[in-house]
Amino acid sequence: MAEQTPRAGKGNGCPLFKQCGGCQLQNLTYPEQLQYKQVKCIRLLSRFGHVDEIVGMARPLHYRNKVQAAFGVRNGKIISGVYQSKSHRIVNVDDCRLEDETADAIIVTIRALLPRFRLTPYNEDTGRGFLRHVLVRRGFKTGEVMVVLVTPDSLFPKKDAFLHELLRRHPEITTVIQSVNGAKTSLVLGKRELVLFGKGYIEDVLCGCRFRLSPRSFYQINPVQTEVLYGKALAFAALTGSETVLDAYCGIGTIGLCAAKHAKQVIGVELNADAVRDAKQNAKLNGAANARFFCADAGRFMTEAAKAGDRIDVLFMDPPRAGSDLPFLKSAAALAPKRIVYISCNPETLARDLGFLCKNGYQVKRMQPVDMFPHTGHVEVVVSLSRQ
Ligand code: SAH
Repeated sequence: MAEQTPRAGKGNGCPLFKQCGGCQLQNLTYPEQLQYKQVKCIRLLSRFGHVDEIVGMARPLHYRNKVQAAFGVRNGKIISGVYQSKSHRIVNVDDCRLEDETADAIIVTIRALLPRFRLTPYNEDTGRGFLRHVLVRRGFKTGEVMVVLVTPDSLFPKKDAFLHELLRRHPEITTVIQSVNGAKTSLVLGKRELVLFGKGYIEDVLCGCRFRLSPRSFYQINPVQTEVLYGKALAFAALTGSETVLDAYCGIGTIGLCAAKHAKQVIGVELNADAVRDAKQNAKLNGAANARFFCADAGRFMTEAAKAGDRIDVLFMDPPRAGSDLPFLKSAAALAPKRIVYISCNPETLARDLGFLCKNGYQVKRMQPVDMFPHTGHVEVVVSLSRQ
């Protein structure tokens, strides 16, 4: 049993529960959390059919493979961690129950090293100081570790000595990148990136495929449950090898490339140019000569494809929390794939979009919730739809 303090949360015993607010379901045990998410899915989705039982995590701790820490000063001491929910106050974190333990240890080391090299956290009010944020990503299967130091400009006093010490203490780090972000923005990473050590990206393995990740491209944050999620999505797609598959909102091409082995051809579309570049690279990395990726708004891309009379047999769609827009959904119905596999991180917008698809020629066959984000209120659902 994890240590308990008077303020600790029930779900994972975190003493920062009340200050942080990141784990919205901390007042529930893990089985109660799963029950809560199941009930939420049933409430929102049961009008479309039966909702299968949510797949939880066997060990719902330290699952986040991407950790971001803001840096600041309080009472003369350097602190680093997460912003308190709905505020700009930093909660000092040493070891978060959700975050990768190696990543947290690296961030604590960086915090300790700063004074030694006379480097200071950036102060948003005065615009002075060096370090704004640190982002760490770890490949769950490969163990490769990326460290991104976010600074207001490209200056890095005592860079070589700092890097030398960081790498000595954490030989597991495979690449270090400096991201320059001088803007007054809530976005963590800037557009300019300087590779200070290693390749500038890391690789990870999912469902037997290898993926390259850049600092700014989207990658699922819970690798254990992502394999469960993609496994369900691929099973729902029931590919035989003869299909043309569209992977919409494809990120770095993960779903499409996992599907490519079982399909005739795969087309991916994604708005983020960095992610598309990674997706193309990932196709090569996996020898998937039958996969192509395009940088475009998914709604526009689909509208063009529908106008051109293109043929799609299976559509995977994995939109952000806002769900899909009407041009996308209309074109999806016009393209009329045999099957649609909708992967959703927001059951509210999922219900709205399913409503449209069910009025326009589709029937829901299966709905499978997966717990990708234990201790938080979020729930992911994979839905299989068939053309009537
Ligand atoms: N399928 C991927 C990524 C899902 S996240 C995976 O499983 O890893 C959603 C993705 O949609 C993000 O990569 C985001 O950049 C992309 N996106 C957001 N709005 C978009 C739009 N209008 N058109 C295309 N892609 C979009």
